[in-house]
Amino acid sequence: RFEGITMAPPDPILGVSEAFKADNHELKLNLGVGAYRTEELQPYVLDVVKKADKLLLEKGENREYLPIEGLAAFNKVTAELLFGVDNPVIRQQRVATVQGLSGTGSLRLAAALIERYFPGAKVLISSPTWGNHKNIFNDARVPWSEYRYYDPKTVGLDFEGMIADIKAAPEGSFILLHGCAHNPTGIDPTPEEWRVIADVIQEKNHIPFFDIAYQGFASGSLDTDAASVRMFVARGMEVIAAQSYSKNLGLYAERIGAINVVCSSPEAAARVKSQLKRIARPMYSNPPVHGARIVANIVGDSALFKEWNAEMEMMAGRIKNVRHKLFDSLSSKDKSGKDWSFVLKQIGMFSFTGLNKAQCDNMTNKWHVYMTKDGRISLAGLSLAKCEYLADAIIDSYHN
Ligand code: PMP
Repeated sequence: RFEGITMAPPDPILGVSEAFKADNHELKLNLGVGAYRTEELQPYVLDVVKKADKLLLEKGENREYLPIEGLAAFNKVTAELLFGVDNPVIRQQRVATVQGLSGTGSLRLAAALIERYFPGAKVLISSPTWGNHKNIFNDARVPWSEYRYYDPKTVGLDFEGMIADIKAAPEGSFILLHGCAHNPTGIDPTPEEWRVIADVIQEKNHIPFFDIAYQGFASGSLDTDAASVRMFVARGMEVIAAQSYSKNLGLYAERIGAINVVCSSPEAAARVKSQLKRIARPMYSNPPVHGARIVANIVGDSALFKEWNAEMEMMAGRIKNVRHKLFDSLSSKDKSGKDWSFVLKQIGMFSFTGLNKAQCDNMTNKWHVYMTKDGRISLAGLSLAKCEYLADAIIDSYHN
């Protein structure tokens, strides 16, 4: 009876790592998945996480189930990190926070909430966006369409297109926004542009839905990277925000994140939270405890919190250095006069090269550089030592 099942296609992002593993070339480079690597291109466990781990072991915490909504101490600090400790919405208990299975699982909970309580409502996602967004909304049976975001001519933001498309969406749509470090383009709106985006969302009674997977990783500062979300909240709007600790604490496999729904009253927040729990219970019952304790302990201890911030700055700094070196290598090696400054303007883990699919194939087949077919490279997987090689590969692929 299983004979009729057809083969599913490989995942466009995680499939890249599988192809990389199968390549034996000595110069191969994996710029597919967005995971931070050291200058030696090794995976990195934050020192502060090792310390928190040791403390947890010494305390001998039990392994009993968490409640459906997750670890209370984690839910408290995760909302505070995102909105700011003194945010009135926290004091007024207007935020429904539920610990989810990292960013992906938290987005999926929100998608299920939309499907149940806003039947027919559409989610607008940026074109392009992180590949899994479409899967998540398709899986949850939530209709979506795209708003213009990336302008290939400038390798920058198509701000007018974005605003026009958000304006044209049916009233009360959910507008999915990347809180910082847009994936895959690395192009973020300026603070002034964010204000205009908030204006149109408010005018049209849309609901902003933030995906913030890189807080602290874009600029090195948790507060700076949350400014977009906080500006919407400060306007008194209802907001959804999905968080992830995969990147900023390197907790990828622990699956730690949260979904926050900012409501107009504490009563509404309590009702929303009860419904989020109802969605989670039959899906996975309750979330994992270990990473939640790590986050709660780091944020709850001022010395560890300081250390985390310093390590985040270090990681963000290494990526910025690589970005500069790649730009220098491209500019000095390429004799065509092409303007490579877009590499410097982008922020976060990724750079959107503007390479088309055939050119990406050339990157992989000829140069053994593994990347997603949309032209995105993860600078977190690049070292200073490999910048020149990568520049050669990009220039060769561009001009072929
Ligand atoms: N949203 C965006 C935009 C991302 O880039 C990622 C990670 N690649 C996620 C969400 C979620 O990642 P995770 O499920 O590991 O938290």
